[in-house]
Amino acid sequence: MTTPQSWEARAEEYSLYGFTDMPSVHQRGTVVLTHGEGPYVFDTNGKRYLDSNSGLWNMVAGFDHKGLTEAAKAQYDRFPGYHSFFGRMSDQTVMLSEKLIEVSPFDRGRVFYTNSGSEANDTMVKILWFLHGSEGNPKKRKILTRWNAYHGVTAVSASMTGKPYNEVFGLPLPGFIHLTCPHYWRFGAADETEAAFVQRLARELDETIQREGADTIAGFFAEPVMGAGGVIPPAKGYFQAIQPILKKYGIPLIADEVICGFGRTGNTWGSQTYDFTPDAIISSKNLTAGYFPMGAVILGPDLADRVQDAVEKIEEFPHGFTASGHPVGCAIALKAIDVVMNEGLAENVKRLAPRFEAGLQELAKNPNIGEYRGVGFMWALEAVKDKPTKLPFDASLSVSERIANTCTDHGLICRPLGQSIVLCPAFIMTEGQMDEMFEKLEQALKQVFAEVA
Ligand SMILES: *Cc1c(COP(=O)(O)O)cnc(C)c1O
Repeated sequence: MTTPQSWEARAEEYSLYGFTDMPSVHQRGTVVLTHGEGPYVFDTNGKRYLDSNSGLWNMVAGFDHKGLTEAAKAQYDRFPGYHSFFGRMSDQTVMLSEKLIEVSPFDRGRVFYTNSGSEANDTMVKILWFLHGSEGNPKKRKILTRWNAYHGVTAVSASMTGKPYNEVFGLPLPGFIHLTCPHYWRFGAADETEAAFVQRLARELDETIQREGADTIAGFFAEPVMGAGGVIPPAKGYFQAIQPILKKYGIPLIADEVICGFGRTGNTWGSQTYDFTPDAIISSKNLTAGYFPMGAVILGPDLADRVQDAVEKIEEFPHGFTASGHPVGCAIALKAIDVVMNEGLAENVKRLAPRFEAGLQELAKNPNIGEYRGVGFMWALEAVKDKPTKLPFDASLSVSERIANTCTDHGLICRPLGQSIVLCPAFIMTEGQMDEMFEKLEQALKQVFAEVA
């Protein structure tokens, strides 16, 4: 019940909600959470939810991992905060950079810290602008991304994001160019093979570079698997087709591994899963298993050397955040990387991914599920009105919101995204919890499709 003193009413009175369907909030109230246990969270009424989205992709070790909270407490006691300016930085920051290069696909490199994934992408764009300017290419400023990409919400990273909702901000900024989304099921032409689709996208990239001029393009950013775009693995051979074109024109390829990084796709990096080596990596979200806000730009050897030369030339890189390389964040990240890689979490993703897929394959027999897609522990089911023609439901029916809301009623948190439902649980999920997720989802699908189909 919503009373003026209720948590729900207090939340609605004083909070400006981000990325929230307000009609659902007005109708259903806000879910106010107090704590978690493993992959479950609890609301102020004591109701338990299995969070099949691990928070926002990031709480991969669950909500009560003692090793992580103890690493945080120990570091707060030891040295609770410092910056990384003026030639000073914490010992934890030094250790984390070493560790990130060690676990990266690069044999050498350099790391720069931010407080979020958006800021990490923003920082990477500034690094490219700075680098190209320093190398005598001041016109090399345009950024290439894809439709449906999600790179964040700052003015620059929102401009990189390929979503129509950014129009309300008058974004994208000029010079941000969006190429075709590599989703074969949705964007492949009727008679087009997957290989022909990939060739078409490669041609589009080449033609775009020639049209704009290679000397005007700073870099190409791509998530190995698009996350917030609806969990879209690349069409087969996509990165193998585009990387040679980028190389030919000297355009760096930046992998936005904010979601894919540290095990989500079944390997440490999504770029490993899809077999390409980027020039730099953007990391955040599960870098700290969600226990601290932190992002990182990881430069591979070529960019690291060139950027360092540019820095030496003017004696400083004029960029940084007050909390860049925060010692508590770094201590937590060091522990999180250890937990994911050495406590069986990454292995669990690998081990249960086939079971995950089998469960979705079963659910996708439903005539109103058009496609299931994903890899590792990131998957989506896409609802359709008509399966053979892939015709979506009328947007006014809010089918995915209805499914997600029905799941919430049943004690399962999942995320509506366009016409899809996204599942990206914590890496600690057990077989039993996976069964619970599928049972609750199946119930909700039946219920909602009976209403709308
Ligand atoms: C979440 C996300 C970001 C933005 O990270 P924030 O910490 O929310 O700013 C950037 N890129 C990708 C791929 C993401 O999923």
